[in-house]
Amino acid sequence: MSIQKIVILGGGESGVGAALLAQAKGFEVFLSDRGALKESYRATLQAAGIPFEEGQHTEERILEADEVVKSPGIPATVPLVQKLQAQGIPIISEIEFAARYTNAKLIGITGSNGKTTTTLLTYHLLKSAGLNIGLAGNIGDSFAEQVIADTFDYFVLELSSFQLDDMYKTHLDIMVLLNITPDHLDRYNYDFQNYVSSKFRILQNARPKDDFIYFTESQPIMDELAERQPVVNMLPISLQVALSPGGYVTNGQLITTNNEHSFSILQSDTPLRGSHNAINMLAAILVAQSVGVENDAIEAGLKTFQNAAHRLEPAGTVDGIQFINDSKATNVDSVFYALSSMDAPTIWIAGGLDKGNDYSQLDEVVRRKVKALICLGVDNHKLVDYFGGTISSIYETQDIADAIAKGLEWGKPGDVVLLAPACASFDLFKNYEDRGNQFKAAVKTLMIK
Ligand code: ADP
Repeated sequence: MSIQKIVILGGGESGVGAALLAQAKGFEVFLSDRGALKESYRATLQAAGIPFEEGQHTEERILEADEVVKSPGIPATVPLVQKLQAQGIPIISEIEFAARYTNAKLIGITGSNGKTTTTLLTYHLLKSAGLNIGLAGNIGDSFAEQVIADTFDYFVLELSSFQLDDMYKTHLDIMVLLNITPDHLDRYNYDFQNYVSSKFRILQNARPKDDFIYFTESQPIMDELAERQPVVNMLPISLQVALSPGGYVTNGQLITTNNEHSFSILQSDTPLRGSHNAINMLAAILVAQSVGVENDAIEAGLKTFQNAAHRLEPAGTVDGIQFINDSKATNVDSVFYALSSMDAPTIWIAGGLDKGNDYSQLDEVVRRKVKALICLGVDNHKLVDYFGGTISSIYETQDIADAIAKGLEWGKPGDVVLLAPACASFDLFKNYEDRGNQFKAAVKTLMIK
């Protein structure tokens, strides 16, 4: 049956882009969002003459679809999605839909942590080397909307597990899998293996000559690879073992070999700190080498990269105490790397909405690095109970300015105050960006005084 009617569920960046692409390709389109649309998206749909609804899902109309493009934010468990599935109506992600209409080579990047950093860095390395590359996926402008003109030779796509879940046929030329640690388990029936399988969908259409870049010290990745033994060009990354082809770190030097080319750079000559960022850089460098970027261009790109905000972002120094904003550290693994990369006694600000955290991974690094803990959240009991025996100074607050004031009071010149919450932000803030922005603003206020 040929597809005529496409329904888009969810009117965010990806949904509106998918609606525009569907219309450009001549489908009958209807967009439905249970909530309210952003004013700019509403205006875009109106200007394009695309029918849509807000505040409801009109089931009869949606069930007439030949195919549904679903926003990654809508879980498969909602009754409407279940009904679509029961009727055999295919449900795909915006990525799957848009990928049908581009001839660009696709680079897909996933992992529980590091996706945004690695995607932005890959984009920067390839773009600054002069390649004609677009950036899309779980970041920036909609992939589908960018595919309408289809002017790029490459796209780098940040892929969340929710996006991967609704991808079936998309062929990626280069795939990156950074790590797998428990996250979003509420969407995976609280079964970690389901989440692992979701991440491995990145490999589902891999061909023998495609490149697969992955981190070998992530046990769930290695366990799964042992089971699957994919036929693809493997480019492993390690922080401990010299791998060639592949990438590794020795004495602060990042070293990669790919396509018989070798590259090396001292991490201290790049703007990214921490071993997690060493992994992210190795991955991005291996991608750059795969597409033929020369060493000089890779080096120049690494040195000029600026990461997105809220990822180990320096927020200012007051009385010799450095404040660092890692508000995006919303799970335990990212906090592990954040604390590990601190090279001064650390006053750690953590807390927010707990996602079923198991803090045991932090025992050792907390003992080594953390001198005090400031709990910032509505309910701090889990943090206080867990670290009460290890950290002698613990303070609880629901006010970010108060948390920072306490950090200043407890800090000595040379110390670091690190916001790395390990938790979601929705108890006190709109989102992690809001939390990070309030942190930076409060530090600025102290700097002016
Ligand atoms: P994502 O897009 O996957 O959430 P980000 O690049 O935004 O990843 O980083 C999210 C958080 O995880 C940041 O706090 C960062 O310090 C940390 N992080 C970044 N890269 C890694 C990595 N490779 N492994 C573990 N944690 C990481």
